[in-house]
Amino acid sequence: MATVQLKNICKVYEGGVKAVDNVNIDVKDRDFVVLVGPSGCGKSTTLRMIAGLEDITSGELYIDGNLVNDVPPKDRDIAMVFQNYALYPHMTVYDNMAFGLKIRKFPKEEIDQRVREAAKILEIEELLDRKPKALSGGQRQRVAVGRAIVRKPKVFLFDEPLSNLDAKLRVQMRAEISSLHNRLKATMIYVTHDQVEALTMATQIVVMKFGVIQQIGGPLPLYNEP
Ligand code: ADP
Ligand code: ADP
Repeated sequence: MATVQLKNICKVYEGGVKAVDNVNIDVKDRDFVVLVGPSGCGKSTTLRMIAGLEDITSGELYIDGNLVNDVPPKDRDIAMVFQNYALYPHMTVYDNMAFGLKIRKFPKEEIDQRVREAAKILEIEELLDRKPKALSGGQRQRVAVGRAIVRKPKVFLFDEPLSNLDAKLRVQMRAEISSLHNRLKATMIYVTHDQVEALTMATQIVVMKFGVIQQIGGPLPLYNEP
């Protein structure tokens, strides 16, 4: 079970920018919620607050019914995939994927088993010894997803994960992430400015503008309006 609730969440950055203004979102177990909206509307800030990478100015964030406003990121049982992949350049693919488990003191055998299992799912088994600079964009993206999968988190967060890929790869990775969502029975929150991505992947779409939620709904009714 993994639910996420945002109650009256606000974020005001130093200097006074109100990036997120009284946002309420109810993410149910196994939902695939897509936050969509133009650049600068507060999507990324919202995601980073859920991950614990950004302080919440006011409001409450619950994961599985527990208030987590003050819980540090590493204790939130959440894994995030970033737009720029954020891989460690000096580490191999294997070590990039293993890192999050190592710092959480998982036994080596368990780490090894999880890394290999994730590599198999993502079809990157033959890349485990490479460094990120020896990978294509699509391969790097897979490693970034693999690094999230090995954690077996309750909740996956994706911040524009496909925006650096070409159109063809984007379509392919979209399908793969949707299929992972089913296979892992995971709860996912996904940020994009791409409406097609939102439409094809979401169980619930949240449309943001100027830090405010404009609409929440299923993927079809929202965009069928004339
Ligand atoms: P999006 O992800 O939708 O593009 P962001 O959440 O990144 O939007 O940004 C929302 C607003 O907050 C923007 O006006 C942006 O300039 C501002 N902002 C983002 N990060 C910071 C920061 N670290 N300090 C100050 N303002 C920021
Ligand atoms: P440490 O950093 O603690 O020395 P390593 O990550 O080097 O640990 O190795 C731990 C285990 O992970 C090894 O026994 C090996 O089975 C596996 N391993 C590490 N790197 C790779 C790799 N590139 N390919 C396959 N397996 C690896």
